Amino acid sequence: MKEVYDAIIIGSGAGGGTVAYRLTRAGMKVLLLEQGRRYDPLEDFPLGQNNWERWDHFDTQNPDSYVSPPQYLGKRAMGLVSTLHGSPVVQNPRLALNYVRASGLGGTTLRYQAEAHRFPEHAFTMKSLFGIADDWPLSYQELAPYYAQAEQLLGVAGDHRNPFKPAREPFPMPAHPLGCPSQHIAAGAARLGLTLSSNSLAIPTRPYRGRPACIYCRGCGHGCPVGDKGSIDVVMIAPAEATGKLTIKTGARALRIEVNRQGLAEAVIWKGEGGIQRTYGRTIVVAGGAIETPRLLLNSASRSFPHGLANTNGLVGAYLMTHLSVVLVVLFDEPVKSYQGLPIDSRIWDFSSPERVREQGGGFALGVMGSPEGIVSPAMFALTAPGWGRKHKAYMKQYYGAHSSIFGVAEEIPKKENRVRLSETKDTDGVPKAQVSLALRDGDLKLLELMRDRCRELARASGVQEIALYTSIDSMGATHVAGTARMGRDARDSVVNASGQTHDVPNLFIADSSVLVTQGCGDSPSLTITALALKIADHIVAKLKSGNGK
Ligand SMILES: Cc1cc2nc3c(=O)[nH]c(=O)nc-3n(C[C@H](O)[C@H](O)[C@H](O)COP(=O)(O)OP(=O)(O)OC[C@H]3O[C@@H](n4cnc5c(N)ncnc54)[C@H](O)[C@@H]3O)c2cc1C
Repeated sequence: MKEVYDAIIIGSGAGGGTVAYRLTRAGMKVLLLEQGRRYDPLEDFPLGQNNWERWDHFDTQNPDSYVSPPQYLGKRAMGLVSTLHGSPVVQNPRLALNYVRASGLGGTTLRYQAEAHRFPEHAFTMKSLFGIADDWPLSYQELAPYYAQAEQLLGVAGDHRNPFKPAREPFPMPAHPLGCPSQHIAAGAARLGLTLSSNSLAIPTRPYRGRPACIYCRGCGHGCPVGDKGSIDVVMIAPAEATGKLTIKTGARALRIEVNRQGLAEAVIWKGEGGIQRTYGRTIVVAGGAIETPRLLLNSASRSFPHGLANTNGLVGAYLMTHLSVVLVVLFDEPVKSYQGLPIDSRIWDFSSPERVREQGGGFALGVMGSPEGIVSPAMFALTAPGWGRKHKAYMKQYYGAHSSIFGVAEEIPKKENRVRLSETKDTDGVPKAQVSLALRDGDLKLLELMRDRCRELARASGVQEIALYTSIDSMGATHVAGTARMGRDARDSVVNASGQTHDVPNLFIADSSVLVTQGCGDSPSLTITALALKIADHIVAKLKSGNGK
């Protein structure tokens, strides 16, 4: 007798791990396939080890599968290329996409900074309100109860009195205190009539549901060593495992999804320790992230779906979005202990409505990153400090803790031609690689210019000196990728409906960043992915319980 799971979930990140939680808690028998490995915070992210801050535990290198051809942007982009002390350090063109993520149980939340943002109401109706992008098939009000559940599960600390966000109940925990750089920059923001607010973060300010309070070690991006951060392995997968209903296979890569003669998804072909295997499920949920999900669907072409699974309208892979970002590294005239506190403890939301930035598409947010990205300790800073002996020590004393960053982040308006396709070349498993095409348009450049100018204004108003500028023109490291199997009401212009169910295959669901229609307005996406995954999972449970699993 072949074993049949109620659901097979592919990928264990913000989307997949959350679906596993909800399905198993509802009594469903679930198989979770994760190509990465399981990490143990105490063993794998130890703070006590030499050089802990230089470790990169996750597979984050740019695999040659994600190549976006360089884009030549002309003279105009020279105002946006990275600078150090005012001089450009790289040349036009824009470099290839470096898709940053983590492979492992918990997915990219293993290394996220746990910013937990609800998208504003208008982000769901951008087309109707502003003629930008597309409307979602659901409203903010429909998602709000799931946002609230996601915040409870992730343990979000924040201040609910944010005038730029929808009115809401208090967060599960009070906000984290602002670090020194944010306190200084708050004064500069106030001079410009802007409001700097504490960031909402899935990081506990007090012990929460078995998790300790944050110890402010700044290790979020390396894997939280104490297990307080609301990463999906901790908050979703551990309780799902405790139900006894979840079978987890790590090092297990889904290669293909098979459909039967009735056009229903039937089995997953995957490669694990025991070689190639076929496992059957009543429902199949794809949650490999916005690059791997379309790649898997396109690689699952069959006689019934010759152009790829769920791809009758050719939209699997289309509308790829990343975030546009500008980072201004600034120097205070005295050390402000920028190494203390959380990586991103504050945000300025004044520009998050497209009404505030009419000439551009989409809104954006500003924020403060304590120490510049990557510099989390004296050891890291010493690598950038010049000189030897006394000279080196004097530099460290004067400057360690005096640098910080002001950043701007905007959503990239979805464009059909920005997409994931299958490459001609194959990887070592014989699977065609993903080929990414991603080009900036005029509106994107305008947004980058606007964010650069606002960051500089804020730096001036805060009395700090600009040291370097980086923008996504040439440091194209995308941490927020989304949109390649988007949701919609109409089967002609979307891949899934508002319940994550593919229009083409009734028992095939997608529950990750791929389904996003827009990326908010400078918001980070994981809370929305998690809330959507809870909603999608509820729909799957109802379907399975009604006996209508297929
Ligand atoms: C450095 C960094 C910081 C970030 N900070 C924030 C933040 O503060 N706030 C925020 O909201 N977002 C943040 N993000 C983004 C956020 O982490 C992602 O948007 C989110 O995790 C995406 O969720 P997902 O479910 O789509 O995919 P992922 O979380 O990436 O999970 C996908 C999983 O699927 C697995 N997988 C893929 N293909 C297969 C296959 N064929 N078979 C088996 N397994 C497969 C992968 O190994 C992976 O574990 C950050 C990202 C990075 C890189």
